[in-house]
Amino acid sequence: MASTVVLQSIRAFYNSGATRSYAFRKQQLKKLRQALLQHEEEIYKALYADLKKSREEAYLTELGLMLAEIRIMLKNLRQWMKPQPVATNLFNFASSSTIYRDPLGVVLVIAPWNFPLQLALMAAAGAIAGGNCVVIKPSELAPATAVLLQKIITAIFPPEYVYVAQGAGAEVVTEMMQSFRFDHIFFTGSPGVGGAIYALAAQKLVPVTLELGGKNPAIVEADADIDIAAKRIAVGKYTNSGQVCIAPDYVLVHASVKERLLKALTKAIKNFYGDDPVNSYDYGKIINRKRFDTLINYLRQGNIVAGGKYKADALFLEPTIMDGVSLESDLMKEEIFGPVLPVIPFETMEEALSVIAINPDPLALYLFTASSKKEQRWISTVPFGGGCINNTLVHFSNPALPFGGLGNSGMGSYHGEYSFKLFTRPKAVLKSPAWFDLSIKYPSFRGKLKMIKMILR
Ligand code: NAD
Repeated sequence: MASTVVLQSIRAFYNSGATRSYAFRKQQLKKLRQALLQHEEEIYKALYADLKKSREEAYLTELGLMLAEIRIMLKNLRQWMKPQPVATNLFNFASSSTIYRDPLGVVLVIAPWNFPLQLALMAAAGAIAGGNCVVIKPSELAPATAVLLQKIITAIFPPEYVYVAQGAGAEVVTEMMQSFRFDHIFFTGSPGVGGAIYALAAQKLVPVTLELGGKNPAIVEADADIDIAAKRIAVGKYTNSGQVCIAPDYVLVHASVKERLLKALTKAIKNFYGDDPVNSYDYGKIINRKRFDTLINYLRQGNIVAGGKYKADALFLEPTIMDGVSLESDLMKEEIFGPVLPVIPFETMEEALSVIAINPDPLALYLFTASSKKEQRWISTVPFGGGCINNTLVHFSNPALPFGGLGNSGMGSYHGEYSFKLFTRPKAVLKSPAWFDLSIKYPSFRGKLKMIKMILR
């Protein structure tokens, strides 16, 4: 836990101005990249220990994404940091207007366990690029990665610049926030805890970014390429055993193609993970017994079409497909966050919309269709954080796209330049010359209304 003394030293370091220059920020991002490369093997080991991720999956979904993000930042940071001249209106004639981007100060990043490296460091890199000091609170539920994160960060950054605060969130975060005012809190996790953090932050008027979860629909229209839809839904659902905030939570499929889709999904699972997924190199484990028990309970809430076998001692649950699931069941009311995929048929878009409305504001939405008309209709009708047409998950991997949710799935977005903007604030400055000094702008204003109306438009 970060003691008050540590937090005060972080504040003093920030106030010294040391973190503000382009040269400093660039150097720190390079150090972070170097450290990640140096610890590549240890990263794979930690992610395997916590979640049984393969090296390839760990690179694809954690390390590789981080390195790509740092590369984008190093390439563009100087440009992003440049003060931006903007237009000046007639009323302020002869003046010039500029937007400077100021760091926020001391930022707290709270991370979850499902991508324990990437979701802690992606935000931290944005905060570094923004010229801030950072306190990172990793998830205690992914202990191997939490320990490694601390090792990496401590080796390259002094504690008054980037600090790792370990422990259970409720205690560590509450205690830090009682004794210290952060300038921003970046939280990734569940909507319930997000709400608690928002309430805590409000007491000191601390702005927050909330990256939360929810139920993400994958919609398969009758005109979709069913084999491609099945492959992409299956890889989106069963990566990290479904423990992905943007995983397709459930499928809404046009009734006319439901049977074809079920067959294609079953085939895709077999192709990806073989006949015995418990021994698959590519298939992970559930994070802990509590989550495992919740998931096993879902198996009773419909018909199992594929999968459904489990091994409690290995925290393993097969990639599972279910149909005949009631909209009233927990399976359709809670974020599943595991490898159980309910498939719900629909006849009309209105019917599908009414299912989505039960769990509004999904973080992600995936639509499979060959029709650009349908595509535009879905995009303009449903509020969702972000998503894909004819794909799943991959919008997260393009740093040119902002990533974030709305309503129940969060507020604020990041990645690439959006991270830089999130971790800085626009400081607006209007500069006036002495040589131009209109008398109508000074009292007495009596009789000047006509002139004022002319210039203030
Ligand atoms: P969680 O909310 O339980 O925990 C997240 C972090 O908050 C952890 O570091 C934890 O220690 C801390 N924490 C827990 N209780 C706290 C409290 N009372 N006060 C302060 N901090 C507290 O979430 P989780 O189980 O780690 O992650 C799963 C959830 O996160 C899912 O809902 C998932 O959808 C969501 N998620 C969202 C994203 C996204 O980018 N939007 C990414 C990954 C996960």
